[in-house]
Amino acid sequence: MSFWQSKANQSTGVEDMVLLSKVAEDQIVENLKKRYLADAIYTYIGPTLVAVNPYKKLPYFTSKEISLYRGAAAHENPPHIYALTDTMFQHLVSDEESQCVIISGESGAGKTESAKLVMNYIAAVSGRGTEVVEQVKRIILESNPLLESFGNAKTLRNNNSSRFGKYFEIAFARGGQPVGGTISNFLLEKTRVVGPGQGERNFHVFYQLTKAASAQEKRDLGLTSGPQYFNYLNCSKAYDADGIDDAEEYQAMRNAMTVCKISDEDQNNILSILAGVLHLGNVDFDEENNQAQLADQRSLAYPAVLLGIQESDIQLKLTSRYIETGRRGESYNVPLNAQQARSTRDALAKALYSRMFDWIVGAVNNAMLYPGAAKAVVLGVLDIYGFEIFQKNGYQQFSINYVNERLQQIFIELTLKNEQEEYAAEGIKWEPIPYFNNRVVVDLIEAKRPPGIFSVLDDVCATMHAVTDGADGKFVEKMGSTIGSHKHLNTAGSHFTVHHYAGSVDYDSDGFVESNKDTLYRDLIILMQGTSNGFIRDLFPESVDSDDKKRPTTAGMKIRDQSQKLVTTLMKCVPSYIRCIKPNENKQPRDWDNSRVDHQVRYLNLKENIKVRRAGFCYRAPFEKFLRRYAILTKETYPSWHGEPKAGVKVIMDAANLGQDQWQLGKTKVFVKAPESLFLLEELRERK
Ligand code: ATP
Ligand code: MG
Repeated sequence: MSFWQSKANQSTGVEDMVLLSKVAEDQIVENLKKRYLADAIYTYIGPTLVAVNPYKKLPYFTSKEISLYRGAAAHENPPHIYALTDTMFQHLVSDEESQCVIISGESGAGKTESAKLVMNYIAAVSGRGTEVVEQVKRIILESNPLLESFGNAKTLRNNNSSRFGKYFEIAFARGGQPVGGTISNFLLEKTRVVGPGQGERNFHVFYQLTKAASAQEKRDLGLTSGPQYFNYLNCSKAYDADGIDDAEEYQAMRNAMTVCKISDEDQNNILSILAGVLHLGNVDFDEENNQAQLADQRSLAYPAVLLGIQESDIQLKLTSRYIETGRRGESYNVPLNAQQARSTRDALAKALYSRMFDWIVGAVNNAMLYPGAAKAVVLGVLDIYGFEIFQKNGYQQFSINYVNERLQQIFIELTLKNEQEEYAAEGIKWEPIPYFNNRVVVDLIEAKRPPGIFSVLDDVCATMHAVTDGADGKFVEKMGSTIGSHKHLNTAGSHFTVHHYAGSVDYDSDGFVESNKDTLYRDLIILMQGTSNGFIRDLFPESVDSDDKKRPTTAGMKIRDQSQKLVTTLMKCVPSYIRCIKPNENKQPRDWDNSRVDHQVRYLNLKENIKVRRAGFCYRAPFEKFLRRYAILTKETYPSWHGEPKAGVKVIMDAANLGQDQWQLGKTKVFVKAPESLFLLEELRERK
């Protein structure tokens, strides 16, 4: 069905919402609903793709569609993620310009599935050739089951929720063959390792391993009792996830490791760490005279063997802290109470897991690296978790929402900037339209002077040596006194509210200081550096020199740095956008929750997006293309026009009698203002 045929067919709504008769949230929601119920999940806003999660397998992702969209002009076929990807790929090859696609939407909206469709399409249509190219393609596809096993989990919102952000960049040679790639990962939710919430699961890989490892592996790793045996898994009482076959995924994950060139030995090391983390979670403590005692001495056996450390060392480091008292070089082992011992144990488990995760990402990158990749043009896919507003919002939400603010900046700047640049280049007159620039919120969070929220937090982290009681409260207090008057910030007690572009979020400061410090206790680093396992030792390369007076890097500094790098990378590319929408909370097909969709439509700024497109010109086409379609409207231009294309377009426009304000001729393109004018042209054409 063509673009125009389906425009006439109102039961499936409009394919490009720039053509909506009225631009209001209601109309947008209604249009998306009509299309969703007709299994048309994709809708355009100009070049932006809106994708509604169908929660079922749709038939239009086969090789037939791949050939249909390959090389086809936009709007020749119904909206599709393949069309957007194809346009990016064509630009990349013909203009040799790097491209990126920014995929946004809330948890469960379909970002990761979209990212995979983009990558599958690229792997299918991009040039074939050498073994390097085939290997890169295999890794592009296989890195997904690998990273999802270690970085995704069942949450209340999504059975396969990505608990890390990912930017996947594929490098291409001149002819469009993928020759390399790099993955950058962001903000792994490491607290999940030690305690998924009720009804949620820990990372998938733990269930894959405890359920599906071979009998021999289970014996070696102490996993014969199944997932229920482990505190880090049984605390949430969810062992299965609908639609996920852990045994099958385990095989896929192992296979993916091999494709990504992770050696058998390293795979075994990874399995040991996973099992080691689980067994570590079963080490528990009682308390006597305020001092932690092991609840069961035997619980140390497996962690010791699997992590290559002495039982006595683990015991010492989990139950006491080594303190040096400055001047005379005196030192003590200060005993910890049971709660502190548990939190030390958990810190170790989180560090082991997250460092191993980074190692795996690094391994995939090594397998994809090729010497010239840095110079090539790239296509980047950003799948990072969207804005989060929960009942209780902590440091993780704050960091994620900050990254989203930065991404929104790109969206605003580039959408408007690109639009304006095209008008300028074509010499078209237009009125710039006002928009909320969230720069103020970005500054509130990241500025150095006056200090932003992260700076205040870093100061508190630097001046309070231990996580003494009250440090989190001091942080809010200090924010109140330094930047409390900012109009996007409110502080109250231990809470603070940031008025983000996507809504106001109340943050509970509990845990902010500790999360931001993100330093592993020196004792734990020393413990792990003493391991007999070289793989594990390499995960802890830092210096433990206590004379090192450098201000330690905080998690906040890392995330600011990472997002800055990300923004710089993205800004070098031509961006495309996929805005994902979740139709209901029940993970069900054909189930439409109007108010939930309305909410997403609002904070994804879809209305503003349409308005920007319309305030300018809803339609633009190179003169030749326009002539091909509308030449039939006048005798002068049909069956053929021999003059300059631009003059031919003018003949048609004059004859159509649209009104002078409705169109403009640029240097290479004709611009049509309102959709109605375009409809009129179409009607005239149909009548011929
Ligand atoms: P999160 O932020 O939690 O990672 P997400 O936006 O990445 O969420 P996905 O994991 O991509 O969400 O999608 C959630 C689920 O919705 C998928 O596991 C799948 O069941 C279904 N789904 C999403 N997109 C599609 C699609 N195009 N076709 C069929 N099912 C889909
Ligand atoms: Mg995801």
